[in-house]
Amino acid sequence: MRAIGRFRRGVRRARPVPRREAPFLEIAVSRFAPQLLLSLAASVAAPAIASGPAAAGDDPLKPVYVVAAERTHRAALADAGTRLRTLAGRDGEALAISRVPAGRLPELVRHVHEKEKRCGGFFAFDSREQAEAFVRDDLSALAVSAQAVEYTVDNQATVTPWLGQVREADIRATIRSLSGNWTTRHAATASGRAASDWIRDSWKRLAANRADVSVEQVACGNCGQQPSVVLTVRGNELPDEVAVLGAHMDSIASGGSSASAPGADDDASGVATLTEVLRVALGSGWKPRRTVKFMAYAAEEIGLRGSNAIAVDHRNRGVNVVGVLQLDMTNYRTAGAADLRLISDNSNAGLQGLVRQLYSRYLGGGTLAEYRCGYGCSDHASWTSAGYPAAMLFEGGTATGGYSPHIHTRNDTLANMGNSAANSVPFAKLGLAFLGELGKTSGM
Ligand SMILES: [Zn+2]
Repeated sequence: MRAIGRFRRGVRRARPVPRREAPFLEIAVSRFAPQLLLSLAASVAAPAIASGPAAAGDDPLKPVYVVAAERTHRAALADAGTRLRTLAGRDGEALAISRVPAGRLPELVRHVHEKEKRCGGFFAFDSREQAEAFVRDDLSALAVSAQAVEYTVDNQATVTPWLGQVREADIRATIRSLSGNWTTRHAATASGRAASDWIRDSWKRLAANRADVSVEQVACGNCGQQPSVVLTVRGNELPDEVAVLGAHMDSIASGGSSASAPGADDDASGVATLTEVLRVALGSGWKPRRTVKFMAYAAEEIGLRGSNAIAVDHRNRGVNVVGVLQLDMTNYRTAGAADLRLISDNSNAGLQGLVRQLYSRYLGGGTLAEYRCGYGCSDHASWTSAGYPAAMLFEGGTATGGYSPHIHTRNDTLANMGNSAANSVPFAKLGLAFLGELGKTSGM
């Protein structure tokens, strides 16, 4: 009951949601538990997880329905897409729903990256109805201030011994494999599928001999050939409370889905960092109080598709996700830059506070800076939109506030990051602290 009370206080702090977009909220907030509220919000949306084989997804004329900032639409899609509707976004920034031929999406990706100097930037759907349902059901206003549970830092007994076990060489080896085994990990390609299989198999090896750990691939209706990978460690005492750590597996570059896109920083580094967190935590025999899930998302670069399907599915099933941490680009840093940056927009205030606390308690010494990444910049935005508390960590980048100049090109390689994963080591340590303090330890 404590959790519900706290959630309600968070709800009252949230900005008012325009009645036109979420007519159920005023009634639902005062009467129902959070899971029920979330279920109500989602009950009209079409199920996002496909049960059959994934669609091919590479027809350049196939219409894609895009939700992006209105200014992004104006600058990048004015002659490539048809604007269907403009509406007010949560931060006062106008959003637009547009219909775009799939073959023109790379122009949108390139615009956001090169002109707006940020990543991601839009959500993509197969139908206008799905796009309309997404903006109608958006729970970001609740998610940024809601407090699902009380976040505490009291599990040093588990976390501290983990930190010294992080190995740069292991993170480097995973980045090398993911960025070197295939020309691209684009979701529409066979190699994008092979990369998903590779991650599934390497996570399965780390989970060997653990009956409480399962690994599965999760297809989504508009993720092309690529399923997401989800590893679950079942909680011993609080199995219905779920903590999530995620990164995206796909890569992209100009020139279509077959263009050379090693994606070493974006986001092989995030998947490699997660894999190292898993290796250390499972290797120690740790069993959590809460359920924890590791997710490698499909199709982030073409509209946050894998993560949105999973987040909406969790909302539809009323799953109580108590915190989500996203790692998207962890390994590029030049002299004078911060060690890590915490995204300050479209994420949960309480969870940002927890990450700061964890940083000063377990890492210290270096610098944790802030960064605003704009509308829909990575997979944490899918969880935020679905009403869940989420936060994202981002690389230190450059001393002037930039990030890797190589992403979304053939030059996003380990060689262009000094053939080292040293910059990802603090992310793995912070990931372990997040895991140990949000998942806690069974029997403690
Ligand atoms: Zn990325």
